[in-house]
Amino acid sequence: MKLTFCPLFSGSSGNAIYVSAGDTRMLIDAGMPGKAIENALRAIDVLPETLTAIAVTHEHTDHTKGVGILSRKYHIPIYANERTFEAMAKTVGEIPKWDRRYFETGEDFYVNDLALHPFSIPHDAAEPVGYRIFAGGASVAVATDMGYMQKNVLKTLAGTPVMVLESNYDPALLMQNPHYSLFLKQRIRSNHGHLSNEDSANSLLALYETGVRHVLLGHLSAENNTPELALTTAVEKLTENGICVGEDVTLDIAWRDRVSRMFILGT
Ligand SMILES: [Zn+2]
Ligand SMILES: [Zn+2]
Repeated sequence: MKLTFCPLFSGSSGNAIYVSAGDTRMLIDAGMPGKAIENALRAIDVLPETLTAIAVTHEHTDHTKGVGILSRKYHIPIYANERTFEAMAKTVGEIPKWDRRYFETGEDFYVNDLALHPFSIPHDAAEPVGYRIFAGGASVAVATDMGYMQKNVLKTLAGTPVMVLESNYDPALLMQNPHYSLFLKQRIRSNHGHLSNEDSANSLLALYETGVRHVLLGHLSAENNTPELALTTAVEKLTENGICVGEDVTLDIAWRDRVSRMFILGT
């Protein structure tokens, strides 16, 4: 069975990642307006009405903006832990009881052909998670919105063939940004904020050692980062350590406003 993985949107302005295997088609987060997500799905030849489920990482609107709309329009079940359901209740609106599927963080669950492992991440939300997702002997992962790279998260991600890894901000751009308050800057830099390009590059190096070979740098800030800065920081770190990008490991950007590279894994 093939496992397909394709970020539709990734960044502080909105997140949605498409994952499918067999007849199971789902989104990790739906943090853009419903219409934008429908159009992105059609662009990769997926009809929105054929979605099996949406799994949510946490309640921030850049992950949940389209959740309620899509769920009600197409009767799509939503998977989240209890505290995330509570925290997003106001923003996503009414989700009928039969479309609310609760999981426990750390406990695997199945959505038809896909097995999902939700793992705890350090972020300023009620009970935020990342996901490692398995099908057909392959796996992919979503690891964004993390204040720092925890040892446990690194362990969970070890050897994942393809993943989106956060590379949120360049510290200099963040600190210079006149539109952000000092409070917001400190929140982003804190252990419950986001991974900087440097944090991401260090994580990438550790992940490479575990066998990770394809990484999409994602959840880039629109104001405090550029794709070039994120990529350069990662490439420099890997090169310094004797790893050849393009040969030993591939790096891509999970784009903020358009569909990114699609990966099809498994046999
Ligand atoms: Zn986010
Ligand atoms: Zn967040």
